[in-house]
Amino acid sequence: MASSFVDKARISVHAGKGGDGAVAFHREKYVAAGGPDGGDGGRGGNIVFTVDENMSTLMDFRYKRKYVAGNGANGAGKRCYGKDGETLYIKVPRGTIIRDTETGAIMHDMSTGEDFIAAKGGRGGWGNMHFATPTRQVPRFAKPGLPGESHDITLELKLLADVGLVGFPNVGKSTLLSVVSKAHPKIANYHFTTLFPNLGVVYVDEGVSFVMADIPGIIEGASEGAGLGHDFLRHIDRCRLLVHLVDASGSEGRDPVEDFEAINAELREYSPELAERPQIVVANKCDLLGEDREKLETLRRHVEAQGYSFFEMSAATHEGTRELVKECAQRLADLPPIASYEPDYVPPEPKVDTSGELTIEHFDDMWLVEGPWLQRLVATVNFSDYESRMYFDRILREAGVFERMEAMGVRDGDTVSMYDLMFEYRE
Ligand code: GDP
Ligand code: MG
Repeated sequence: MASSFVDKARISVHAGKGGDGAVAFHREKYVAAGGPDGGDGGRGGNIVFTVDENMSTLMDFRYKRKYVAGNGANGAGKRCYGKDGETLYIKVPRGTIIRDTETGAIMHDMSTGEDFIAAKGGRGGWGNMHFATPTRQVPRFAKPGLPGESHDITLELKLLADVGLVGFPNVGKSTLLSVVSKAHPKIANYHFTTLFPNLGVVYVDEGVSFVMADIPGIIEGASEGAGLGHDFLRHIDRCRLLVHLVDASGSEGRDPVEDFEAINAELREYSPELAERPQIVVANKCDLLGEDREKLETLRRHVEAQGYSFFEMSAATHEGTRELVKECAQRLADLPPIASYEPDYVPPEPKVDTSGELTIEHFDDMWLVEGPWLQRLVATVNFSDYESRMYFDRILREAGVFERMEAMGVRDGDTVSMYDLMFEYRE
């Protein structure tokens, strides 16, 4: 079966709805008026991202785009709680970045291996057992559950590797990786052989190892989107060290110095920060040089003049590969660990259209206010935040909710219930 490397995917996630609270009354033979015993609805299930170490692409998300967690069950009589909705775990490869599709902001970086809750299930509604008071013994109401959060999400895989191999196609990147690690990348003598990145663990010494990534060939113009390379540049974003391979033999009629400059120009174009990343330059295919070492020495002078360290190597005969690996390990020991991305997603203020229907009922001093827009608003406002509470208050005022209640005779100290929110009315 043909497979391709998928490193970007758009999906939507939907947490479960909370179950409704129950209206019920205790029944017993010969007992006239039993008390309220309606139980609460269960919580809606969360949507949780979790790392699966066996995954290395986002291919699964190409076919399945919509992810829905379980709803909470409704409460029932005899104080029975509804069952919580089932959490939906979504498996992703380590190094996946979770973004808000609309703004592109980062919600979470799945590189630490910790689970991430991307959408919270709605809270369950209270059953009427909560509403009995000495003055209100027959509460004929309960609360509905709240909707769960929904989110359009873009997944983006940025591989986690210490060392990234860069260079033109065919310079020997895959060959080097297969020689120094147990990875088995495809090796062939034509361009664009590597259609997806390969990772290999390089064991240096007891307790010393690092991860090396073979990034598909960067070609000229890739940073402007001209070719295959562009998409893959993001996979070297987090490499701590770059190993830049150059075909020193110019075996394909190319000029090594020009190749070296072209790749670095490409890196700069894509990200100036990446071009500044520590880089070791390796002249590969030295076995093909024979007596004519002029090209190699020209490249060496050019590279060293720019302050890079320079290695001669032949991935084919393994000459120099051991020295390169040791140098990588030594450099890595002094470099900062792999960067993870800080979330910068700020949930937007909920936009609410308050023109829809709203019902206001009261049972003695208990006021029930309900309607679809209010339900959405209550589910999104963060009531532990002062600004958000003021915003909530303003919306209700502007929608004329308090005016209507006053016209219906609400009094100071009455209880107002809006879904899972309860507060005392104050003029
Ligand atoms: P990549 O595109 O950079 O991954 O290059 P590959 O590793 O696929 O190698 C391309 C071709 O160059 C293959 O035919 C390899 O066998 C050959 N090759 C790689 N390294 C060397 C080397 O050091 N010497 C010689 N003579 N050939 C090499
Ligand atoms: Mg390759």
